[in-house]
Amino acid sequence: MDYKQRARATVESLERDLIELNDWMYHHPEVAFEERESSARLSAYLAANGFTVEYPAYGLETAFVASAGSGPELVICAEYDALPGVGQACGHNIIATAALGAGCALAPLADELGFKITVLGTPAEEKFGGKVDLINAGAFASAAAAMMIHPSVVDVVDPNVIAVSHLDVEYHGREAHASAYPQLGINALDAFVQAYVNVSTYRQHIYPTDKIHGIITHGGEAPNIVPDYTRSSWYVRAQTRERLDELLPHVTACFEAAAVASGCRMELIPMGHTYDDLVSHPTMVDLYAANAAALGRPMQRGANLPPSQTGSTDMGNVSKVVPTIHPMVSINCYPIVNHQRAFAAHTISFDGQKALFDGAVSMAWTAIDLAQNQLWDEL
Ligand SMILES: [Zn+2]
Ligand SMILES: [Zn+2]
Repeated sequence: MDYKQRARATVESLERDLIELNDWMYHHPEVAFEERESSARLSAYLAANGFTVEYPAYGLETAFVASAGSGPELVICAEYDALPGVGQACGHNIIATAALGAGCALAPLADELGFKITVLGTPAEEKFGGKVDLINAGAFASAAAAMMIHPSVVDVVDPNVIAVSHLDVEYHGREAHASAYPQLGINALDAFVQAYVNVSTYRQHIYPTDKIHGIITHGGEAPNIVPDYTRSSWYVRAQTRERLDELLPHVTACFEAAAVASGCRMELIPMGHTYDDLVSHPTMVDLYAANAAALGRPMQRGANLPPSQTGSTDMGNVSKVVPTIHPMVSINCYPIVNHQRAFAAHTISFDGQKALFDGAVSMAWTAIDLAQNQLWDEL
């Protein structure tokens, strides 16, 4: 058997385990930086399958690093955080189990092929940006390349992934009896509503690739008390980090104007790291696309998709420090899409399991191509 056949046979032999883990993660969703059981199970599985494991790792309680072999290092990222309220609605259970499958397929080949395979457990993608902490702690310092797959409703090898900044906005006013003494109140809910309207108005005059989304997380205590405090959470996105830097002052002005109009004091609180846009490495993109096609999963190119059909990921930051790919793998359930409860349910369907298998094998085969053709330096 050649290397690719051996890798595929290993994933096939582990498929039952991987599906069980995928199901378990679906039933036990843990949100950003609280992925304690998930990270424990995933890292234990790698330890039992020939990896040297460090857990926790790089100063993060729910991060792990598992390695086998030596030589140029390929890092496969495993995400496992869920979303509040909707569970594994982004399918990070498939990301994690596909990473395990690819890693376990490559570990027995790493020494023969002269490279080091690392599966890196990367917490808190949906919030905070754990990969940025990992970059800062040196987790990618010796990496020659990095990859992961992400479930989606389209197969696209080099998706359009844009930059995002996360911030919370607080308004501080003054409480008062809403009926008897409203003239003494300063209404922090009015400030929030005005801010929301300002942003909504501004949205007409930005690029289709600029995105601004906000929710209110604290809106007051009771209707008969003038709200003295509100808090809201906002994501501001743009095609590039440069465009994001242009956009942010305008959004901030919308928040400030609301503070002035209402007489409230405003506080802007940055939440977690800013995510970079993703730059997919062309050589790795071509290799992955060819391998996925060989498995019967032809991949679209991001350039052929609607330019506003975008998301963001902290893998973007990784792509700025090491050659990276982040293919999207369809679980075939459109119009059910990411961040819907029904999408979470589809991650454990037959199509979800197929995405897990195809993602694992395609990543393993891409790694084998890189190693057999000694492309590490060229990257
Ligand atoms: Zn998501
Ligand atoms: Zn996701």
